[in-house]
Amino acid sequence: MREIKGFHHVTAIAGPAQENLDFYAGVLGLRLVKKSVNQDDPGTYHLFYADAEGHPGTDLTFFPWAQMAPSRDGYGLSSEVSLAVPPGSLSFWSGRLERYGARTSGPEVRFGQSAQPVIDPHGLRIALVESEDSLGRAFTPWDGSPIPVEHQIRGLESARMVERDLVVTTSFLSNAMGFTHLGTEKGWHRYGVADGKSGAHVDLWETPTARRGAWGTGSVHHIAWRVDDEAHQLEMRGRVTEEGARPTPVIDRFWFKSVYFLEPGGVLFELATDGPGFAVDEDRAHLGEALVLPPWLEPNRAAIETRLPPLVTPNATSDR
Ligand code: ZN
Repeated sequence: MREIKGFHHVTAIAGPAQENLDFYAGVLGLRLVKKSVNQDDPGTYHLFYADAEGHPGTDLTFFPWAQMAPSRDGYGLSSEVSLAVPPGSLSFWSGRLERYGARTSGPEVRFGQSAQPVIDPHGLRIALVESEDSLGRAFTPWDGSPIPVEHQIRGLESARMVERDLVVTTSFLSNAMGFTHLGTEKGWHRYGVADGKSGAHVDLWETPTARRGAWGTGSVHHIAWRVDDEAHQLEMRGRVTEEGARPTPVIDRFWFKSVYFLEPGGVLFELATDGPGFAVDEDRAHLGEALVLPPWLEPNRAAIETRLPPLVTPNATSDR
């Protein structure tokens, strides 16, 4: 069986879109590589932040649902997403986050890595993690970023998942998806796939007495895993079905093809193809500048545009 390659993207729910853009592009210096709409709710943006080219595994995306209630912590949700930064970068980042009044705690050491937890403007827990392994990953620095190249975020590092019954999920991760146990520390159980390094592991927390978590602003919506191509996607779709999941049919997301399913603990997963990628409909030099719609929504462009709040370039100071 061909392996999953690690994270493809993580999608979360945000509040007002401009505040989301100001934080992720302005403060964290990620590139907005695609400004589109939620294909199931086209009156809502779908904003994609990544490295300069939108490499699979670098991508954090948001549905800004400004009217939604805040999320409720509990099992069956991913409770944090971490982003890889180069070793030695955390003091730079702590200073920058402090200047912007970001809600930070820590720093912490997790599985030997230094981590700076921070809560985004709408309550999403993220962590910047110094990751030696991330230096070997596919990454293109973003010239338009306010962050010096040597400190730029290199991609998704990991995610935390909260489970009511650990074994139900870890058996599924192992049997259906090829994960292995990498270690346990302070109650967190780390499972990795492929090389298990940067962008290819998750940390699980078992909480038998918690209530079910609920989506809302500040929560992760789903975790997407990389498959090579459509054949690999179908192979993995069959595999997760055999292990009891009930995946959707293949859905064409235009920049990649997607299959969704709940892992048995309740976290929404996606299998997403590497291709065709974000440059399929925009020049690489101008990614994210215009509102891009998949072809089947193009006839409704005028109506869609009037429902979306205007977005302006984030106002943030450069540290370059
Ligand atoms: Zn997705």
